[in-house]
Amino acid sequence: MTKFYEKNYQERLAEIVSDPSLAKSFQEQAVFEHEKLIENYLTDFSLPVGVLYRLQVDGKKYVVPMATEEASVVAAANNGSKYLGNIQTVYQTHSRFGQILVVGDFDQINTIYQANQKRFKEIADSAYPSIVKRNGGLQQIHFRQLDGNHFSFDVLIDTKDAMGANIVNTILESLADFLRARNVSVIAAIISNLPTTSMTELKATVSGIDQATAKKIADLSHFGLIDLHRAATDNKGFLNGASSVVLATGNDWRAFEAGAHAYAAVDGNYKSFTSWKINSKNQLTASVKLPVSLGIVGGTINGLKSAQAALRLLDVKTSDELAKVVLATGLAQNFAALKALVSEGIQKGHMKMQHRAKGDAHAENR
Ligand code: NDP
Repeated sequence: MTKFYEKNYQERLAEIVSDPSLAKSFQEQAVFEHEKLIENYLTDFSLPVGVLYRLQVDGKKYVVPMATEEASVVAAANNGSKYLGNIQTVYQTHSRFGQILVVGDFDQINTIYQANQKRFKEIADSAYPSIVKRNGGLQQIHFRQLDGNHFSFDVLIDTKDAMGANIVNTILESLADFLRARNVSVIAAIISNLPTTSMTELKATVSGIDQATAKKIADLSHFGLIDLHRAATDNKGFLNGASSVVLATGNDWRAFEAGAHAYAAVDGNYKSFTSWKINSKNQLTASVKLPVSLGIVGGTINGLKSAQAALRLLDVKTSDELAKVVLATGLAQNFAALKALVSEGIQKGHMKMQHRAKGDAHAENR
């Protein structure tokens, strides 16, 4: 008997949907090129894409595609970015981070680690020669003791302009085989979604708001550093902006968000991603520093025309440039939310857009 996943589209549809109108609806939304992206393909699920019209980062102006279902997000990002002017990069690193997790005796494993640095490089390079041709590939391996007999080989890899999970995992598995052949008990080998070696830090200075509002924003930001409940909500607002760009560009938003949340708790206390402060010149300043591993090639981007179009509109030349734009969008979004919260409240703008989404023109004008 043919298994479900081996059936063709029409056969699968007939097996699971008896209502002809529902079958028609799924079929009408389907993009059959996407059948090869996932298993048991049924249909497509589309989201609106709006634009953040003028975001400025390191002196370059971007038109930023944002995929979101949430009313008021795009409007708020546009509003916020006007106050931030030119957002600047403070610091950026690029290596992806993979782990080979092993169990055993420290001396035995450490001896293998110390003796095989050159061999590790040869194995990694032959596992993924095309990334080496692009001047990427294995950079360093650190050996880390997690507890008595649990260890991590932390493997740093330059995947150039790819997000790199497949590249990293391929290299890790070849290194894991080498360790297994030397009687090391390898439990797993997988990319880490907390790439602390792939950091982006941005800063911005706000103009165009009064001192009282600036002070309240700095106070509200402080709550996100001392209270878990406030931090979670503040970070959700930041991700309204940042993740919408990650999604529109065909990137893995779960990986991005997992890394951001883990980094927010890196010292043991979960905090806001951003920090807003009044500086010595009485200006409101912002900073954000997060791990970001995104791609402008590879992964799902190759199979999603909408992602390719979004990347063309954005006109970023490297994955690092995309990382900056994503965090800058988050910063603009975050500022708009903080400003609204300390002044008229969040509901005014929010409900106006909600009513518009529902076609309730009367309520929209209330
Ligand atoms: P790919 O496997 O598609 O690798 C990227 C490919 O892009 C490379 O093989 C390379 O091929 C090609 N390429 C073309 N130009 C460049 C360039 N300038 N720089 C780098 N590569 C280039 O994708 P990734 O390795 O990026 O993996 C991303 C996918 O993995 C995502 O879809 C993600 O969801 C998924 N994933 C995520 C995991 C996680 O986060 N935990 C786990 C597993 C998978 P060539 O050099 O041969 O031309």
